[in-house]
Amino acid sequence: MKYLSTRGQAPLQSFADMLLAGLAPDGGLYLPEAWPHFTPAETAAFAGQPYAQVARAVIGRLVGDSFSPAERAVDIAGAYAGFDDRRIAPLVEIGPNLFLMELFHGPTFAFKDIALQVLGRMFARALAKRGGRATVLAATSGDTGSAAIAALGGLENIEVFVLHPKGRVSEVQRRQMTTAPFANVHNIALEGTFDDCQAIVKALFAETAFARAVSLTAVNSINFARIAAQSVYYFTAAAQLGAPPVFVVPTGNFGDVFAGEAAMRMGLAIDKLVVATNANDIMARALNDGVYASGDAQPTLSPSMDIQVASNFERALFEASGRDAQWVREAMGRFADTKSLTLPENIRAALRARYAAARCDDEQTLAAIARVHAETGRLIDPHTAVGIAAVGNLKLQTKGPVVVLSTAHPAKFPDAVRRATGLIPPPPPRLSAVLSAPEKIVDLAADKGLVRAFIEARLPPS
Ligand SMILES: *Cc1c(COP(=O)(O)O)cnc(C)c1O
Repeated sequence: MKYLSTRGQAPLQSFADMLLAGLAPDGGLYLPEAWPHFTPAETAAFAGQPYAQVARAVIGRLVGDSFSPAERAVDIAGAYAGFDDRRIAPLVEIGPNLFLMELFHGPTFAFKDIALQVLGRMFARALAKRGGRATVLAATSGDTGSAAIAALGGLENIEVFVLHPKGRVSEVQRRQMTTAPFANVHNIALEGTFDDCQAIVKALFAETAFARAVSLTAVNSINFARIAAQSVYYFTAAAQLGAPPVFVVPTGNFGDVFAGEAAMRMGLAIDKLVVATNANDIMARALNDGVYASGDAQPTLSPSMDIQVASNFERALFEASGRDAQWVREAMGRFADTKSLTLPENIRAALRARYAAARCDDEQTLAAIARVHAETGRLIDPHTAVGIAAVGNLKLQTKGPVVVLSTAHPAKFPDAVRRATGLIPPPPPRLSAVLSAPEKIVDLAADKGLVRAFIEARLPPS
């Protein structure tokens, strides 16, 4: 199995090299050269299998010969050993044919653990085989940072730099990052938005001399290894339900919902993928109106989705264009220049066949939290609530199961939950510990030169 770039001007790579590189050198995103395929009998047979077994099957087809089956089994077992629910991604029925898929049972209580716990282990293994060091640079709107730190903190030969927008992540999210007791972890609070953080990360990757000198790499959802690991829970949920589900996915950078497209392209029967956004609705506008145009990110109650540029959309565009790398390259170039891209009708039609989209504002988010609590006694977090609100806004025509991805534990966002219900969700013990530990953090202006100098000053001499 080899990986190609969506912009068509980078050499094919093995899974391990793609994993260590993150972004392709031509600025594109990696995808499998050809999707592996599971037959309906194979996907149905996942019902009743332990999560790790399904993960071995799905991830196994994507890694090719980069890791042996025994190595994969060790990494996947290790990744999920620390989860506080043995089902890893349990389904909970909250209404007639309406389910939550709880993805927050990992060490940092958000869905990103599911992929990053696997990725961290494979990353250390690939690096040990290749030799040398790696510098991981990540931009986070809240949850990627802590999940990356939980996965990579304390590993040898890896230095981790995490940029978050100052004051725009919740206190719990910030503390989960800044209280990590690892010398190889460096937290930067950037004076700006998440998009500023992401723009600096991209700009530093584009400085090829610097990127090569420090072996820069990314574990953001632009890294296809994350998509690979996230596609697994679409398989486990569909197999359990026994009918093609509608999946409703609270969306920011389009990574999680694209993992659903990946599962479809690997043969899984899915009725529809619903992209649920907050007021930062670039993706809802792109899918509903055909214009992918970014504005300024607004702070909302679901900060992990406060994003105006959805990097992974490039993957969906590449597939929707029939894998036309030249078109993607030109289109992404135009978008970079003008911040706007009008999608041709053939691409819109291809996207509509798979995706639907709905946005909701903070009022609707709070109403969804209150309604689910009133009807079921459950507290949900504001990101999950955006998904619940989308179900109401869309008036879906489906007789099959509807699965809302529950992407974070409500105790990560106590303020929103309290505003909606008057209740403060009790934090799990692991989360209470971070609320009192000392923080390690540096403030920097949104200037890529400052960030580069900060990184260079903190790398061990080679
Ligand atoms: C990251 C995140 C999202 C958005 O996921 P994308 O893959 O960026 O679309 C949604 N909810 C929570 C809680 C998150 O941490």
